Amino acid sequence: MSTQSRKGHDFTIWLFLASFCGLAILIFFLWYQAEAALPDMVGRVLTAEEKRQVIDRNSALVSYVYLTVNGDFPRKEKIKKITIHHMAADLTLEDLGASFAKRDRRASANYGIDSQGQVGLYVEEANRAWTSSSEENDNQAITIEVANDEIGGVWHISDAAYEKLIALCVDICRRNDIEKLVFTGDCNGNLTLHKMFSGRTECPGPYLESKMPEIVRRVNQQLAVEKAW
Ligand SMILES: [Zn+2]
Repeated sequence: MSTQSRKGHDFTIWLFLASFCGLAILIFFLWYQAEAALPDMVGRVLTAEEKRQVIDRNSALVSYVYLTVNGDFPRKEKIKKITIHHMAADLTLEDLGASFAKRDRRASANYGIDSQGQVGLYVEEANRAWTSSSEENDNQAITIEVANDEIGGVWHISDAAYEKLIALCVDICRRNDIEKLVFTGDCNGNLTLHKMFSGRTECPGPYLESKMPEIVRRVNQQLAVEKAW
C-alpha cells in the first residue's frame, strides 16, 4: 500500500468512527428527550397520595391505577368521544396493567373494567391512549377496555361490567361537557367502536355492539336528569 492510499484508508476509518459516534450521540439525545417528555408518574408504582391525586383528575369510579408509558402526553385535541373496546379475555385490572406495561406491545387504554365491575385507570384523560388503531379518534376519545366473561361466541360481558360501563360513560360525559352520546354505526358519532377504524378486528364483539343503542339511551337519560337539576 502506498503512503497516499494508506492516508486515504486511515481517513475513511476515522470518518466511519466519527459518524458512528455522532449517530450514537444523536440516538442517546433523542432517547433522553423522549424519556424526559414522559410525565413523572408513568411506568412506576404510585404512592397512596399520588394515586389519590391521579384519581382526583380523572374518574372517581377508579379503584386501581397503573399509568403506562404507552401513550401521547398530552392528547392533542379536546375530549369529544368515547370508544368502547373489549379485552378479548377476562383479565383482572392488574393483568391488564401488566400487559399495557410492555412497551413493545404499544397498546393502552384510558380505562379498563373487569368482570366484577371494578375500574382501572391506565392513561389519564388528559393524555392520548393507544387503543383504537386511529390517532385521530384516540386524540378525541376516552377509550375503555371491558373484560369478557365469555371467550369467543358473542364475547359476552358481565352485568356488573355493563352497569359500570354505563356509569363510567355518564361520568366521562359530565366532567368533559359532552351533552349526549350519539351512536351512528360509523365513526361520525361520538360513541365509536374499535372495528370502525380497523378491518382486522371485531372489537368490541357482537354482544357489546348490540348494546350500543341501549347504552346511548341510558347514558343520555341520566345526563338529562342531571341537567334538569
Ligand atoms: Zn379494541
